[in-house]
Amino acid sequence: MKCDNCGSEHTIVRDSKYTTTIKGREVSITCKRRFCTECSREVQDEDLEKESKRKAIRRYNEIVALNKDRIMEIRKGYNLSQELFSKIIGCAKKTLVCYEKGTSSPNDNFSIILNTLVYKPRLIVDFVDANKDNFTSKQYETIMKKINTKK
Ligand SMILES: [Zn+2]
Repeated sequence: MKCDNCGSEHTIVRDSKYTTTIKGREVSITCKRRFCTECSREVQDEDLEKESKRKAIRRYNEIVALNKDRIMEIRKGYNLSQELFSKIIGCAKKTLVCYEKGTSSPNDNFSIILNTLVYKPRLIVDFVDANKDNFTSKQYETIMKKINTKK
């Protein structure tokens, strides 16, 4: 692979932040890109570019799949109130209310948490334990009871 800018053949691949817009929505991912070690400009690498595009599309699908109905569905699957569920995932109640109304979309951190719960619902137990200090013992008991009745 040769640098278009300075002609050097010394290039390295490293992780880089990549932001693109898909169907009007901004999608940010971390992906591998190739850089010239001489002039540090980016060097075109078709394979890496294809991979980045695929990754961005996957990320977009995750964001879109997490629409307001889906988020409410996740919470109701545990039979938890907005107050308790927001405490478990570590966001303010009003933030969760906005997600469920669709007035805002979860940021990267909450998208990861919510997607994780879709695929591994029992992981909520670990989230609860990690945030144990935020709950009164009565709340903790209520949460555990509700979580454990989830089929
Ligand atoms: Zn160069």
